[in-house]
Amino acid sequence: MVSGERIRNFVYELYGALPRQGPGSTGSTRRALSRIPPLGAGSRVLDLGCGRGAQTFDLARYTAAEIVALDIHPPYVADLNARAAARGLAGRVRAEVGDMLRPAFPPASFDCIWSEGAIYNAGFERGLAAWRPLLKPGGHVAVTELCWLRSDPPAECAAFFADEYPDMRAVPECLAGVERAGYEVVGHFVLPRSVWEEFYAALEREIPAFTARHPGDRDALEVARISELEIAVFRRCAGSYGYVFFIMRRR
Ligand code: SAH
Repeated sequence: MVSGERIRNFVYELYGALPRQGPGSTGSTRRALSRIPPLGAGSRVLDLGCGRGAQTFDLARYTAAEIVALDIHPPYVADLNARAAARGLAGRVRAEVGDMLRPAFPPASFDCIWSEGAIYNAGFERGLAAWRPLLKPGGHVAVTELCWLRSDPPAECAAFFADEYPDMRAVPECLAGVERAGYEVVGHFVLPRSVWEEFYAALEREIPAFTARHPGDRDALEVARISELEIAVFRRCAGSYGYVFFIMRRR
């Protein structure tokens, strides 16, 4: 196995042990849901980059929609389907393996597309443009995206993201991207710091067990090191960047 693939597998192992695979919360999901018309019985939602499904189960709880959840990592999909069955939701929640950039669904087949902490894999504007045909006219999209919140981040923070997420943009640039991709902006809000602290607390609890499972493995240690650096950067540079929920409507 080449190192890139080993690293990716270690990332999946570490983050797959957490309740969420990225910063997010039930409160934020509900706040975004409150900005779109109710998703009643018979409506359909596509949850892209669903991970183990934290937000998928919130969507199932707070809407009556049928939900299709998609992720490229088969173990997450299997886990989500098993938990949906255990909760008696198998008739309404279904997870599938697939690529968010090549979603194999008929045109205009969803009322809403959801994606928390995942659209960066496609690229913000590229993802939005690729997903637009799947929506019924007037359908909604809600996504979270990492954004610069200040134009003068500390040097350490700028250097970290130059490596880790060079495509990160400021909120106004994302809003312009939403329009260019064929949507009107319904609203946007910044996820509170507490959401990050909860996510990082879970990650910090998990890292020692993860490194203990892979003693002396350089790739595993590198994954742990980057995660710890990410947490340190966040604590020292809080306010310079954050996750922004964007809610939009297909034009
Ligand atoms: N929405 C979840 C997971 C976020 S992590 C949460 O907030 O907890 C990002 C997820 O995107 C991972 O589960 C990863 O497997 C998935 N992913 C990455 N590239 C993808 C792609 N091309 N298509 C679909 N899913 C992808």
